[in-house]
Amino acid sequence: MGLKKELTLSFGGLTLVMLLAFGVITYFTFSETMSSSRSTVFELNARESTRSIAALLNRQVEILRHQVEILFLQYQGGSISPEEFRRQLSEKVDTDGVLGELYLVTPQTMELLASTGKLAEKEIHRLYAAARLDEMAPGKGLLIKDALGVYFVWCLDPSASAKDTVCVLSVVRMGEFESLVRQWLSTEGGSLVAHRAGDVLLRIDKSLSEFSDKAFDEVLGFHGDPDRNMRELEEHFLVTAPQGLFGWDLSYALPKNLFYSDLDRLKNRIIAAVVLIWWVTLWAIMIFAHRITGPISSLSRGCKDIIDLNYETPLAVKSSSEEVVALTRAFESMRTRIKDQVAKDQLTDVYNRRYLMQILETSVSKAKRLDEDLSCLMIDVDYFKKVNDTYGHSGGDEVLKAMGQVLKAMTRDYDVVARYGGEEFTVILPATAEDVAYTVAERIRMAMLEQVTVHEDKEIRCTVSIGLASLANRPETAGKLIEMADEALYLAKQGGRNRTEVFAG
Ligand code: GH3
Ligand code: MG
Ligand code: MG
Repeated sequence: MGLKKELTLSFGGLTLVMLLAFGVITYFTFSETMSSSRSTVFELNARESTRSIAALLNRQVEILRHQVEILFLQYQGGSISPEEFRRQLSEKVDTDGVLGELYLVTPQTMELLASTGKLAEKEIHRLYAAARLDEMAPGKGLLIKDALGVYFVWCLDPSASAKDTVCVLSVVRMGEFESLVRQWLSTEGGSLVAHRAGDVLLRIDKSLSEFSDKAFDEVLGFHGDPDRNMRELEEHFLVTAPQGLFGWDLSYALPKNLFYSDLDRLKNRIIAAVVLIWWVTLWAIMIFAHRITGPISSLSRGCKDIIDLNYETPLAVKSSSEEVVALTRAFESMRTRIKDQVAKDQLTDVYNRRYLMQILETSVSKAKRLDEDLSCLMIDVDYFKKVNDTYGHSGGDEVLKAMGQVLKAMTRDYDVVARYGGEEFTVILPATAEDVAYTVAERIRMAMLEQVTVHEDKEIRCTVSIGLASLANRPETAGKLIEMADEALYLAKQGGRNRTEVFAG
């Protein structure tokens, strides 16, 4: 695994673990706070409002129902007159005062037997018809809602079938129901929601200032699907277990946001912040890791270049870091020194034969690939043995050194001058056609002709013979090009020396 990857993974992983731990600790701390406040409120609800109120109302309704049943049986049996029945019925309702008004109707005759009050007979018959008696079971209630209020209808006689029994319409007016509920809530916060199978009747808010006298579904835009109504209700409210009231359920509901701590509301933001911080940190680590590993990669490329005998390419390190700058400098001087020792000839300070063969091969294949010209000169000192014999070996060395200088001076920077061996030199001329190379060769020859090497106060002069070959001669390999130039050099020697000969093929 790369150092960069290792650094990124280890630091990135560490940051992630730390952030996750932070997130988890925060989450658990806050969720504990939340659940404790929630349970307190639920307990309060169950203890106080709904349970007691529902029980109270149910009991009152039950008592009233039994009393009305007894009264009715007395009336049916003839033990009380119709007037007495009506009077006693009115009394019941007045004293109980919860259910508002009470009406007694027979289904067969549609005759209004008794009533306590204010609804017109016409109105009672309308409600009676709306009650859909055939759907009613004895003893069970049915609810009718309209603009005036909520009407609760029940079968009075549990033993008879719904069709031919007498029914009571009890009217729970909205206004009365409202004041009752307001009373319950005056000591409690939250909202009260009355609903039956998800069909929400009304809602009173915590402040008691907002009271809906329309059905809750109208207020909130609820619709016919009871399950969906409840789901939507539960999205906004914590609803306690329902309590029975007139066949309705009463739930004590409080807006959810009362129970959530600030941290709960911040939950998503905490998660987003954790992810964002981790992401930014990861990027920072990657950049940091790159700053460390970038110079290392460059150095390793530089080492590979040297292994491949490429001593020319300088190290490309972009860093202002003190250590990296020092390392780069040390590496560069090492590269130059290795290059001098491995690639250069110590005596003449031109490239050696090994480097020549290496560079020649790459130059030839590059020129072939790009369809460029390339020429090669083989240069040999004439009668060099005589120089040695006359001026000594050291004199000969001085001539060779001077020759290296002349060759470098006579060629371009990207030409390669090398000592092929003994007093024989090679010059590679990239992107140079044969005719131009001939001119260069002649320039070298003339320069050597004029070169005077002073050794131990003696002037040494010598000439050179040059063989020229180029890619125009179509050599298959770099070695073949050298052979061709060597053949031309042989011709120059044969032709009397101090001349340039071109390979003829
Ligand atoms: P020709 O014109 O045919 O080239 O004659 P030449 O005398 O130059 O021929 P040859 O190649 O036989 O001689 C080369 C001599 O160069 C032989 C060798 O002693 C000498 N020589 C080779 N390397 C060195 C060196 O590094 N220094 C010196 N001083 N002499 C060297
Ligand atoms: Mg020679
Ligand atoms: Mg020779």
